Amino acid sequence: MTATGSGANRSMETSLPVAERPRRPEWMKVRAPSADSRYYDVKKLIHGQSLHTICEEARCPNIGECWGRGTATFQILGDTCTRACRYCYVHSGRPDSPPDPLEPLRLANVAAQMELQHVVVTSVDRDDVPDRGAGHYAATIRALKAKLPQASVEVLTPDFLDVEEDALQTVIGARPDVFNHNIETVRRLHARMRGAKASYDKALWLLQRAKEIAPYPLLTKSGIIVGLGETNDEVVETMRDLRAHGVDVVTIGQYLQPSSKHVQIDRWVHPDEFRWFREQGEALGFGSVFSGPLVRSSYRADEQRHAAETGRGAVAY
Ligand code: SF4
Repeated sequence: MTATGSGANRSMETSLPVAERPRRPEWMKVRAPSADSRYYDVKKLIHGQSLHTICEEARCPNIGECWGRGTATFQILGDTCTRACRYCYVHSGRPDSPPDPLEPLRLANVAAQMELQHVVVTSVDRDDVPDRGAGHYAATIRALKAKLPQASVEVLTPDFLDVEEDALQTVIGARPDVFNHNIETVRRLHARMRGAKASYDKALWLLQRAKEIAPYPLLTKSGIIVGLGETNDEVVETMRDLRAHGVDVVTIGQYLQPSSKHVQIDRWVHPDEFRWFREQGEALGFGSVFSGPLVRSSYRADEQRHAAETGRGAVAY
């Protein structure tokens, strides 16, 4: 056990350093997909239309549960990312083709066949494309709204390096319901984990600016990964920064090292600490706080949106 922040309640269970407990604790265990769930139908649909999902590309531990419920998070703009964050499993390199203009239509058709009520779309970073993929995001949102007018659309975007304002105008012009951009980690670790191109302050600016320019009530959202070497107080500080920039929804989840080439896990954050984060987030005024070991930015995203809009507030898993 270790104390990881001066503000935490001393009576709660605290983090397990990975050096002392290399194997996953019991609260990180996930269920395998069951044969009678919708997992295999979702897989067939997505692969049949040559679409990518962050669920597979990032080796998300929740894939059995999410696909089993008939949901998934689409990854547009290809499978090769022009950045190389130290915690992320998505393939990094130089993409060999421009964005596929038919991808938005194929994605909308699959989302309609899945009968999604809330569609989450993310992407790789495309620093090689002049608009950084903003036009492709807008086309995808428009295709979804045409095909599934009842569904809400959430975009989890990259930082649109050097074209931020234009890219935001393009994306928000297509009227997504939720604008999500992950801050990922605390200020002290940001450059070390994300590389010199990414900026903690730029991420905050992007979230604030998206809400400023939207001519309708846009929900903004961000996510924090824990277990990268941060303290609990730094996590709260990051939540405070997000609230100061008008963010409505925050997600907090445990980092899992996807391969030996990626940064090592620093600690297993205890479920009591996730509950403490939730309480701190609630006190800061977030509309919804999803905080738990297996929480990911897109985990039960439909419920996160509903919680924020109905004022149901914080949820911990
Ligand atoms: S949490 Fe998100 S990325 Fe993970 S399986 Fe579910 S929808 Fe996919």
